[in-house]
Amino acid sequence: MDVASDRLLKTFRLRSTPSRQEILYLFLKKNYALSHGDIEKEINNALDRVTVYRTLKTFLDKGLVHKVLDDEGSLKYALCNEACSVAGHHHDHVHFKCTRCGQTNCLNIEVPTIKLPKGYKADEMNLLIQGICERCA
Ligand SMILES: [Zn+2]
Ligand SMILES: [Zn+2]
Ligand SMILES: [Zn+2]
Repeated sequence: MDVASDRLLKTFRLRSTPSRQEILYLFLKKNYALSHGDIEKEINNALDRVTVYRTLKTFLDKGLVHKVLDDEGSLKYALCNEACSVAGHHHDHVHFKCTRCGQTNCLNIEVPTIKLPKGYKADEMNLLIQGICERCA
């Protein structure tokens, strides 16, 4: 049993189950955005697709992880900061995808304000920068 993931589940008032612990532990350990496929591979397919999908959905709804739109329209997930809760997500930060190692990270930089044409209303914004990360530079 992993203490950090267990504590985090408690903070978010989520029942601690082996699958939740395992997936959360992975996010804590990896520290970069993970796709559905990444997760399945990392846990050696120990959990079936539906369980992974449901767990991610729960984490998403509770404000534990947020969606990261990767290149080619694929979806990844990354841990949120403490500002997020079941009431909603509170961050508009930039994501950075390294074209060398393929990792996508949350950057502690806010997405700049973009003035939309009249009549347009933004609900969410995604900004993905691609390049070389600090580890690969
Ligand atoms: Zn969030
Ligand atoms: Zn890299
Ligand atoms: Zn992020």
